[in-house]
Amino acid sequence: MPTVPEVVRPPVDIPPRADLGEWARIRSKIVVTDRDWIYCGALSDDGYGRFWVREAASGDDVVVRPSRWMWGAHHGPIPPGFVVRHECDLSLCCRPNCLRLGEQVDNVDDAWHRDRLTYPGRVGKADRRGAGGAARVIRDALLEAISEGVQEPAALGAVVTAARAAGDPYANTGTLIPDGEMPPRVAARAWAGRRGVPPAGRRLVSEPHDDQGEFFTPEQLMDWLAAQSGE
Ligand SMILES: [Zn+2]
Repeated sequence: MPTVPEVVRPPVDIPPRADLGEWARIRSKIVVTDRDWIYCGALSDDGYGRFWVREAASGDDVVVRPSRWMWGAHHGPIPPGFVVRHECDLSLCCRPNCLRLGEQVDNVDDAWHRDRLTYPGRVGKADRRGAGGAARVIRDALLEAISEGVQEPAALGAVVTAARAAGDPYANTGTLIPDGEMPPRVAARAWAGRRGVPPAGRRLVSEPHDDQGEFFTPEQLMDWLAAQSGE
């Protein structure tokens, strides 16, 4: 990966619970836009960054998600069973203000709200490149813009917006939940299941697809979720 120039990196201030060496390394892979901090290092297939750190207890080198590293660098260890969520819906973002600690069911809630729940026959606004494909496009677009001399945060933010929009062709073709309606949290819990993960074989938003986006009514979706969970 090309090195991110100092001028577009996050502020130098070390997060209160960060290891200095790790902070220096992760900083060198983050591009700051007017809204987000985008990790531009190595990525995994599911659209998250891969950041190597040495685990203190074992001495082993392990891969962590940059967003999880960043949350821990500010708040301390992540409690078991919890996830770090993105308010901005950008898996590569690790801007502290975009990150929230939550449970998997909260992630499902988010996906519901943003009309990104997918299941056979319905893709809503899920990115057609899949989560991993979309993340690569966003990272590569940013790195290319920087290599061409773009440094201004708003201009870099516009690059991210354009890269996202290119994979979301149904953004204006419908909405799952009418404006103002409360989130159907019960149904989201039914989806997430007791163990806090989607049922086997179902994923929230990850697979590449070229579906044309079929839109169910909220009632139809509630019925479908209830049938899947056996409730
Ligand atoms: Zn963000």
